[in-house]
Amino acid sequence: MTEKERTIGDFSTPETPSWCPGCGNFGIISSLKQALLQSGSDPDNTVVVSGIGCGSLMPYWFKTYGVCTLHGRAIPFGTGVKIANHDLRVIVNCGDGDGLGIGAGHFVHFFRRNLDITVIIDNNGVYGLTKGQTSPTAKKGTVTSSTPFGSLEEFTNGEALAITMGATFVARGYTADQKGLTEILKKAIEHKGSSFVNILQPCVIFNKVETYDFYKERVLTLEKPFASRNEAYAFVTTPQEKIPVGIIFEENLPTYEERLPQMAKAPLVRHDLRNIDVSAFMDERT
Ligand code: SF4
Repeated sequence: MTEKERTIGDFSTPETPSWCPGCGNFGIISSLKQALLQSGSDPDNTVVVSGIGCGSLMPYWFKTYGVCTLHGRAIPFGTGVKIANHDLRVIVNCGDGDGLGIGAGHFVHFFRRNLDITVIIDNNGVYGLTKGQTSPTAKKGTVTSSTPFGSLEEFTNGEALAITMGATFVARGYTADQKGLTEILKKAIEHKGSSFVNILQPCVIFNKVETYDFYKERVLTLEKPFASRNEAYAFVTTPQEKIPVGIIFEENLPTYEERLPQMAKAPLVRHDLRNIDVSAFMDERT
C-alpha cells in the first residue's frame, strides 16, 4: 500500500476503546491517528509503547506494533525499541502519574539523549485507572480521595523538566482542539529528535475542576514557538490565567542514533552477529 492510499482505518483496530464516555483520551487517540496518517507514517513500521493507566491502553486500538509495558517504564522500553531498530517510528504514550511520577527519572534522562522518539503525556491530573487519586501534575490544593483536604505539594511541570533536560521539541496540546492537537502531534512526529507533547485532557469522572468548561474558558493558541530555550523555560514556569497551547520550543540537533557509530550502517537488528571474534577484546581484559 502506498502512502497516498492509506486511510485512518489503516491505523485502527476493530475494537472500541473502553474509556468512560467523554474521556479526553478519545480526542488524543483520534488526533494521534490523524497525525500518523498525515505525517506519512507506515503502520507496519510504527510502534506505540505505553505504561499503565487509562490512556496507556492505547496500543490495543492502534493497528501498529504496540506494547503496554510496566508502570513508569514506557520510556526505557521505547528507547530499547529505537536503539534495536532505529528505522522504526516510536511513539511513547504515558499517563501523567505514569510518566511524571514513577517514571520521572526515565523522563528527565530521556531528553539528554535526543533519541528520535515522540513522548506524549495524557495529562488529567489524576490516577484515573485506580479511582482518581491526586497525580503529580495536579495543582496544589487539589481535592481527591487521596488528598481530601487539598494536596500540599506543588505540581510537577513536565514542560519545564523537558526544556531543562534538553528536549529539542516541546509542545502543549488540548484534546478537544482536534485540529490544533493533530497539527502539533504531526510536527512532533516529523521532528528529528526527542519531542514531548503535554496533552491536557479532562478525566470526566474524577477531575471535577479541570473540565471541558474549565479549558473552554482558558485555552488559547500560542502564536509561535519561543526563539530560545531560556524564553521557553520562562514561559512554562510563569503562572498564567489563560492556557496557551501550541509548539513552545523547537531546535534541530544531531540525534543519539546519528551520533552512535554502530548504527551508521544499519539498525542493530540487521547486524550479522555470527562469527564475531571477541578473543582480542577478552585478552585485553584478562
Ligand atoms: Fe478517562 Fe477518567 Fe474514565 Fe479513566 S476514569 S477512562 S481517565 S474519564
